[in-house]
Amino acid sequence: MPSGLNYSQYRMAYNVLHHSNAYSKFFIVSSEKGDLKNASPILIHKTIIEVAGEVKSIKKLHSGQLLIEIMNAKQSENLMKLQKICEIQVKVAPHHSLNHSKGVILEDILECLKGHKVIAVRRIIIKRNNQNFPTKHVILKFNTPVLPKSVKIAYMNCPVRHFIPNPLRCFKCQRFGHTITACRGKQICARCSLPDHNSNNCSSTTPKCCNCNGDHPAFFRSCPRYKQEKEILAVKITKNISFREARKIVNDRTPKPGISYSSALNSVVTPSCSKNMQTAPSIINTPTAPTTVASLLIMI
Ligand SMILES: [Zn+2]
Ligand SMILES: [Zn+2]
Ligand SMILES: [Zn+2]
Repeated sequence: MPSGLNYSQYRMAYNVLHHSNAYSKFFIVSSEKGDLKNASPILIHKTIIEVAGEVKSIKKLHSGQLLIEIMNAKQSENLMKLQKICEIQVKVAPHHSLNHSKGVILEDILECLKGHKVIAVRRIIIKRNNQNFPTKHVILKFNTPVLPKSVKIAYMNCPVRHFIPNPLRCFKCQRFGHTITACRGKQICARCSLPDHNSNNCSSTTPKCCNCNGDHPAFFRSCPRYKQEKEILAVKITKNISFREARKIVNDRTPKPGISYSSALNSVVTPSCSKNMQTAPSIINTPTAPTTVASLLIMI
C-alpha cells in the first residue's frame, strides 16, 4: 500500500483503477537495469508519441523512470503496450498514487515538507455511523524527536501541534489502554457495567460507568476517567515520555478530594486489567520513540 494513503483511500484508488471505466492518467515507465536514465530524450519523446500520440507531459524522475501524464483512455491503452524505448526493455504501470486526487495532494505535501524531516503524511478521517468523513487536518510524522513549532509551505507558515489521539477503550471489558483483540478481561456491559451481555442487549434503565461508577455509560466522553486518560496521553506525547511516567505525573497532580474519585482510580487497577494496561498497547508503551507525530491544518 502506498504511504500517505489510508486503507479506505487506497481501496478507493484501487477500485477506480481496476473496477470502473475510469482510466489512469499517470504512468511510470521503468527499465529493469535503470538504463533508461541514459536514453536520449529525443528518442524517448519520439517513441512515446509513436505509441500513444501527443501526451500531456513527460517527466524524468530522479530514479531515471519516466512519469507520463496522458489525456484520454485510448492513450492509456496504447501506452500500456509500450515495451521498448531505443532497444531498452521497459515496463509501463499506472502510478501508484497520482491517479487518486487525495493521493496527489498528500504526496505534494510530503514533497514540500521533506526539508522539515517529514516522513509520512496522512489525512485525519472521522468515522461516524460507519461512514468516513475526511477532515482538513493532516497528521505529519517527523523523523526527529523534537517537533518543530511550525513548517513553511511557500509563503504560508503553518503552526504544528502534537497529535493526541483519543484514548483506546476496550469494547469487551471497557477498560482503557487496550483493544478487544488484546483483552484478557471479562465482558462488561458498556451501559450498565454488569457482566455477560453487551450494551445492545442491555435492558437496564439506569446507566452506570464501570470505569468511574458515574451514572453514564462507559462511552460517555465527559467521563472523568476518559478525560484523565486523555490527559495522560497528552502528557506522554508532549513530553515524549513513557505511558507509565505520564500516568504518574497526571496522578500526582490530580487532586483527590472525595473517596469516590480515589476509589474510581483504584477500580482501574483491578487485577484482570492492570496487566493488560502495562503490556498490551505497543504505541503507549514504546519508550521515547525517535519519531514525533503532529497534526497540521491545511485546506485540502
Ligand atoms: Zn478489555
Ligand atoms: Zn447492560
Ligand atoms: Zn465514567
